[in-house]
Amino acid sequence: MYPTIAKYVFFYPIRYLRGEFICPLINKVKQIETYDENDIEKYQIERINNVLSYCKENIPFYRNNLPNKMQYKKYIKSYEDMQNVPVIDKKLYIKEIVKCNSLPKKRVSKRSTSGSTGEPLIFYKERIATAFMDAVMYHTYSWHDIKIGDKQARFWGMPVKQQAKAKEQLKDFFMNRTRFSAFNLEKETMMQYYYHMLKFRPNYCYGYPSLIYEFASFMKANNLSFKALNLKGVILTGEMLLPERLGIIEEIFSAKTINEYGCTEIGVIGFQCKHNKMHVMSHNVYLEVLSEGIQVYDEEGDLYVTELNSNYMPFIRYKLGDRGIITKERCECGVHFPVIKSIKGRVDDFVITPDGRKIYDAIFAYTLKRHVKSFLVIQKRVELIEIYIVRDQLYSENTEKEYLNILHKALGDGIKLQVFHVDELPRESSGKLRYFRSEVSANKQVDTPPNFLNKT
Ligand SMILES: [Zn+2]
Repeated sequence: MYPTIAKYVFFYPIRYLRGEFICPLINKVKQIETYDENDIEKYQIERINNVLSYCKENIPFYRNNLPNKMQYKKYIKSYEDMQNVPVIDKKLYIKEIVKCNSLPKKRVSKRSTSGSTGEPLIFYKERIATAFMDAVMYHTYSWHDIKIGDKQARFWGMPVKQQAKAKEQLKDFFMNRTRFSAFNLEKETMMQYYYHMLKFRPNYCYGYPSLIYEFASFMKANNLSFKALNLKGVILTGEMLLPERLGIIEEIFSAKTINEYGCTEIGVIGFQCKHNKMHVMSHNVYLEVLSEGIQVYDEEGDLYVTELNSNYMPFIRYKLGDRGIITKERCECGVHFPVIKSIKGRVDDFVITPDGRKIYDAIFAYTLKRHVKSFLVIQKRVELIEIYIVRDQLYSENTEKEYLNILHKALGDGIKLQVFHVDELPRESSGKLRYFRSEVSANKQVDTPPNFLNKT
């Protein structure tokens, strides 16, 4: 579909009907981007005060834990005052924000994530907040000349159940994108997808880095390239790749890689500019690095995010579960937003099957959803996978049978799946809980500063 048709016939009308008025927000986002440091702080403090006012009135957790307003009827006057606002992690968020909120009165959308931790989170977001999130995303994509409606080749998961799959395919059509499923990495499918890409002619690619890398390696081994596509870029999201792997992607796709850092809860949090620096999306988030509870710059610590344009079920000083470094160093691109210097995040991995196939680990997040509080999967040997599940009360034998059927179908019968019901999952030494660990593959946590630093 022509990008202009996708933009004006589908994208804008569908968003309009959903109550997500993106156009005026994109203009606002553009304006915020011209602010200097002082104006950015002023804008962010005003937004945070607005969110806190709503919270103090409507959410018991904040009613009890938020200090009273200071002079001029404000909760905070500067970034330093954020120290007085309580931090929250996913577990506490589910308990205090999701479960204590009354049914939404405004127009909201349901969103869910299992994240990288295997602990599902279901929450609601106002349509206006979703629109703001997307306005930021589309505007920053335009840093690399990627426009709304442009054709996207998506390297992503695909729902396992037929009905959900059909829904996703319909969505892909309206969004002018084609999808390469992460759960089907066989040689024949990769070859088919290569030809499909040449026919579809995407303007840019988007997806999980390790999946795109697998695809690029396959192409390299077969002397194929996407030079003819003239791609505007390859947006990599969700994890950090080693620089040499990035090089292979750039060579084979014949395009620049662009790093995105974000999460389902809040959308894009950091995005790489033309000068290869990953800027914090200060239009919509306030990002903090805390080391032993104290806010630091140019020093590593835990990442906490505050969403600025969402009141209902807000994310305030929400622990992202990743570690990183933020700096206030200037960037040549002229944007005054802070720069994320490094992130030590998750590293995705693959299940390796006895017949030599690789299947993206997200298959478990896509499958183990209903009645599963959290889970951990460990591939012990090529032919043995252990699944640890923390169940809710409605989890039954049938639920388990259904999940095992889906997984056997995807992974093949050569792998034994052993299920254990547990009350709590063990954490890794880093404190982070990942839902898949492999004792078979060689993927390791990337501890060096991420690639966008090494490319300058
Ligand atoms: Zn920049």
